[in-house]
Amino acid sequence: MPVAPVLILLGPPGAGKGTQARMLEEDFGLVQLSTGDLLRAAVAAGTEAGRKAKAVMEAGQLVSDDIVLAILKDRMAAPDVASGIILDGFPRTAGQAAALDTLLADAGQRVTAAVSLEVDDEAMIARVSGRYTCGTCGEGYHDQFKQPAKAGACDKCGGTAFKRRADDTAETVRERLNAYHAQTAPLIAHYDGQSVLERVPAMGSIASVRAMLADIVGRVSA
Ligand code: ADP
Ligand code: ADP
Ligand code: ZN
Repeated sequence: MPVAPVLILLGPPGAGKGTQARMLEEDFGLVQLSTGDLLRAAVAAGTEAGRKAKAVMEAGQLVSDDIVLAILKDRMAAPDVASGIILDGFPRTAGQAAALDTLLADAGQRVTAAVSLEVDDEAMIARVSGRYTCGTCGEGYHDQFKQPAKAGACDKCGGTAFKRRADDTAETVRERLNAYHAQTAPLIAHYDGQSVLERVPAMGSIASVRAMLADIVGRVSA
């Protein structure tokens, strides 16, 4: 269980959760826990959870709380989370938020800050449709907004193989935006009620959002 900050990044697909979580790892030594990444690894490994999750993810719907919670609890049992975590894409439902509160309370902890990345839906379709990642190290890129400094080679590791997600199509993104508004956006009020909510305008540049997050993390972990 983490003993240091527990940060949550809330926001629709394309808001910049993964991009910012990786930079918070670099800037603050926190560990990114992405349930999307954990689920994609389970699908690739062909585990029972992965087999159940595959079609749901391709349709842009939410995987069941049972599967997601089992995968997350397993990951949170690893020793590296002691330095503090950034939850990227979790929780996404009221049930997941309640389960997280209980898990943390049992360890004498609570959520340090829940950051809501506030963006416009229409812009998210372009962000998600142009997204790709390095197949070697996972660094994220975008066809227009974040290209590698040297075309065709990853800035971080020099890798030349890139990949796109099967669910990053314009149609699936609409479904995922609907799921966000129906099931995840209500969590903003949940964390406001716990006085840990931070709203961050996230339509600006990657660097400007990074600076706002650095201010928040510096303040809440002081
Ligand atoms: P999420 O994890 O919330 O779905 P990502 O971090 O993967 O979002 O970002 C989605 C895409 O948009 C990526 O291709 C990323 O490079 C790009 N991106 C992230 N933040 C910004 C930003 N502030 N402005 C423009 N593009 C961005
Ligand atoms: P994005 O970066 O675009 O927000 P993610 O990688 O976080 O997308 O999630 C991809 C897909 O994985 C989701 O559309 C959903 O099917 C599934 N998923 C990820 N996290 C969760 C979660 N906490 N609860 C339910 N489903 C999830
Ligand atoms: Zn790379």
